[in-house]
Amino acid sequence: MHVRAHALRKRKIGIMGGTFDPIHYGHLLAAEEACFALGLEEVIFVPTGSPYHKKGRNISSAEDRYTMALLTTLDNPTFKTSRIEIDRKEASHTVDTLREMRHWFAPYSTAFFFITGLDAFLDMPKWKEFNVIFELCKVVAVSRPGYKRVSLDDLPVQINKEAIILLEIPLLSISSTEIRERVADGKNIRYIVPQLVEQYIYKKGLYKRNGR
Ligand code: ATP
Ligand code: MG
Repeated sequence: MHVRAHALRKRKIGIMGGTFDPIHYGHLLAAEEACFALGLEEVIFVPTGSPYHKKGRNISSAEDRYTMALLTTLDNPTFKTSRIEIDRKEASHTVDTLREMRHWFAPYSTAFFFITGLDAFLDMPKWKEFNVIFELCKVVAVSRPGYKRVSLDDLPVQINKEAIILLEIPLLSISSTEIRERVADGKNIRYIVPQLVEQYIYKKGLYKRNGR
């Protein structure tokens, strides 16, 4: 009883990792829905360090991706943006970030919730020390268009299922890949990304096709 009462008082902190190249309303909706459904005190957006290539393409600089996330989270007191991964010299891994964050917050009175879309969630068994991730936090897997619903029974046996929360959210068919392509093709991205992100992309000339 005593232990339970203590557990109920835990601070709940959400962590939303991503390349965020660029950040878009799909990311924000996922964070907001998780926040509301789970009663999170804050959500920290963590842009990844510079994996030099992602799926064979060059990604924008860590500073540009961080700045877009920062601009986006400025007006929401519940959302924060962290440099923890972009400032790391070595390759950045979620498990290291979670370990480090436990020193920022008192580990015994804080519960971490790592928020991820279904696509990234299904990829997690390939991540560094993925089983440890499920010990350090709960993983909130939100629905994403193109990825059919999963049930906990479909998941590999080695995953600690008590640490997984499957959350249905309104489906927004938006991806950073599509946004980059739209910019390269000279198409509109208004109402897909926050206005400040749109302005930043144009000001810095991000995602233009070579030679344009
Ligand atoms: P890219 O096309 O470059 O992979 P992305 O749109 O998938 O970009 P990421 O930065 O790769 O964005 O994703 C960060 C996290 O946000 C991942 O967990 C991903 O599943 C989730 N996410 C991205 N877009 C959506 C969306 N539209 N709905 C729900 N979750 C999303
Ligand atoms: Mg992605």
